[in-house]
Amino acid sequence: MANRSASLTRRNVVQGAAAGVLAASAATVISKEVEAQDNKYDAIVIGTGFGGSIATFALSEQGKTALVLERGTFWITPETLGLPPGKPPQFRNALADWARDPKRDMRVQYWPRPDHGIGLVDLLENRYHPGNRYGLHDYRMFRHVHIMTASGVGGGSLIYSNVNLRAQPEVLSRIGLKDINYDRAEKFMEAYRGRLSAIVTKIPLPPGMSAEQFAKRSDKDYLLLDRSRALRDAADVVVKRFGTAMTWRPLKLSVTEYSDFKDKDGKINNEADGVHTFCERQGRCMLGCLPQARHTFNKTLFKKVFSSNPQVTLSPESEVRTIKRLADGYEVTYIDRRGEGAWQERKVRATQVFLAAGVLGTTEILLRSRREGFLQLSDKLGYGFSTNGDFGALAVGTRFTDENGDLIKTPDGKTGKMSVFPTRGPINTCDIGFDLEGKHYTIEDSGIPSMFAKIVRTGLNDIGALRALSDPVSFVSGQQSSSLTTLVTSLRERLFGKRDFDASKDRHATEAELIDDVFFFNAMSEDHANGYFYLKGDEIDLDWPADDPIGNQPCFAQLEEMMRKLSDAMGATYTALPTWEGLLVFAKKTLIVTHPLGGCRIGPTMADGTVNEFGEVYDGGKKSIQPDAVHPGLYVVDGSVISGALAANPTLTIAAQALKAVERAVGPLKLI
Ligand SMILES: Cc1cc2nc3c(=O)[nH]c(=O)nc-3n(C[C@H](O)[C@H](O)[C@H](O)COP(=O)(O)OP(=O)(O)OC[C@H]3O[C@@H](n4cnc5c(N)ncnc54)[C@H](O)[C@@H]3O)c2cc1C
Ligand code: SF4
Repeated sequence: MANRSASLTRRNVVQGAAAGVLAASAATVISKEVEAQDNKYDAIVIGTGFGGSIATFALSEQGKTALVLERGTFWITPETLGLPPGKPPQFRNALADWARDPKRDMRVQYWPRPDHGIGLVDLLENRYHPGNRYGLHDYRMFRHVHIMTASGVGGGSLIYSNVNLRAQPEVLSRIGLKDINYDRAEKFMEAYRGRLSAIVTKIPLPPGMSAEQFAKRSDKDYLLLDRSRALRDAADVVVKRFGTAMTWRPLKLSVTEYSDFKDKDGKINNEADGVHTFCERQGRCMLGCLPQARHTFNKTLFKKVFSSNPQVTLSPESEVRTIKRLADGYEVTYIDRRGEGAWQERKVRATQVFLAAGVLGTTEILLRSRREGFLQLSDKLGYGFSTNGDFGALAVGTRFTDENGDLIKTPDGKTGKMSVFPTRGPINTCDIGFDLEGKHYTIEDSGIPSMFAKIVRTGLNDIGALRALSDPVSFVSGQQSSSLTTLVTSLRERLFGKRDFDASKDRHATEAELIDDVFFFNAMSEDHANGYFYLKGDEIDLDWPADDPIGNQPCFAQLEEMMRKLSDAMGATYTALPTWEGLLVFAKKTLIVTHPLGGCRIGPTMADGTVNEFGEVYDGGKKSIQPDAVHPGLYVVDGSVISGALAANPTLTIAAQALKAVERAVGPLKLI
């Protein structure tokens, strides 16, 4: 039975062959033998991101037996804190030792890789895909939209930018999301993860100074991260020039900061003391945080549940395929990829199932379960996908401007480069929010990890040549002959090397210098939430109605216009991303989405949605007789239930909605 070709490690899978070949071979190594397991739990949780972690904490606190199924592995930092003097010896890394114990045999991978060009190759090579189920970054390329999510114990918390932002009440009411409690969600983030910090400065702030004090220009501006200051000042100019109301705010981040916080007894209570280190402004949150300053769920799930409560079992490297309704609960089928033997198909049962595999995972599992005839579901399943209006673009060549946005010039007419250093600081540090024509918009600064610096600089230098390569016919027809010469020279240099390249000023530049005058906008807005998922073969696919494709929706044009104004106020040139402009492998108007929402959206009845406001899954078998009938004990508690764009980073809303559903289904969490 055991098929040795199944015992592939992350490295030899990736090194072995091309992804397509591997995808095929990976499918054939799955053991056809089904283990007739009689495992029955009170509950099964699928996925360990935001929704899955909340369900797991609640089940653990209420003394339930639970199985937590997660497709990915553990990811941790290899850096450890030194032992404080006088303390007894302890494990170097308790999580790694616990997981690697032979009786558990769980893979633990380290996330750092060199944060430069070579690291980028490693990152791309080790992404999650059908030939490499142990990768961390899952980047899927659908028509017009690329979606990035994480695979690993902790889900999106492993690679996200730590931002906790509330959606505007008007936005929530436009999408019909009601009765969610943000105060409670923030309390959850602090009680189960760690204090929220605002980090807009180059170093932890001196005692008595708050991040909010930097909202106005002051003689302490030098303390601000350069890109936080650039966004603040540019927003001021736009307010002055165009009268659009907007305020700059430091973001609340799930990151440990060194501080002189005093607890209620007046004692200094510094989170970064003894058990953590604080944010070193390494600008690589999406690659994993070396100083362990980010509050990721792998750590808290391990500490608060898996290592201390034997009633809750984690099964990582376990990908759920289907859910089947039984007379007294549900049967979940999954592929167990643990160990070095054949991958096993397993079945487990429970009276409650919490689906928290994220927008793509949960929608795919439900679509597959319906196709197999295991679950009768609403006809709305798959509909209502929203990009959250996610949009990115660059301001290139930032220069010093005055309070009116005019370039500051020396007496001989020279202007000065304003370095904004996107390679430093947390990925997002601050935001501006504004309303246009009845819709809300959020624009944040965004970091660019050092490993992307060379490729960004090369792309910016040679974008014309690359664009010509991708569409030579239209380029040639629109060009003068002199440009054609430039094109040929440029292409020759790209393909065969630039003769004078070694003498270029970039030759010895560090990653930080290469792109120090590039500002990266990260925006969210309100799209029409009209994408629809379906199964193509066995995998989820995504499309849009032909009469309202995503790229033509008005929110993106509004964002581009505002980003042009902000770029101008920074003395820089607005530059769209190659995915949006169209380049080589990218079709025009392709969005990169990091905040996918919907697919199993909430609706008052199954005529409008897949779940009700408490995440209970509608029973499609009863649609003509009882349109609000649900499958008892089957819940969706992740981002797929969100019924439209939030125009804000979504995790606080996902957490608030998951708390509403889980606390009703299981019991309250202790949030002290
Ligand atoms: C680069 C980046 C930066 C971001 N920054 C922010 C930010 O600063 N603030 C913010 O609010 N949001 C941010 N987001 C978005 C945020 O990460 C997601 O909205 C959030 O993680 C969604 O939570 P979830 O519970 O829906 O699912 P996820 O967190 O995606 O968790 C789903 C889990 O299910 C697992 N899974 C999937 N399929 C299966 C299966 N078949 N079987 C078993 N397990 C499965 C996955 O491995 C994963 O662990 C960011 C996202 C990215 C990619
Ligand atoms: S900026 Fe660096 S140190 Fe700070 S939270 Fe992000 S990855 Fe960690």
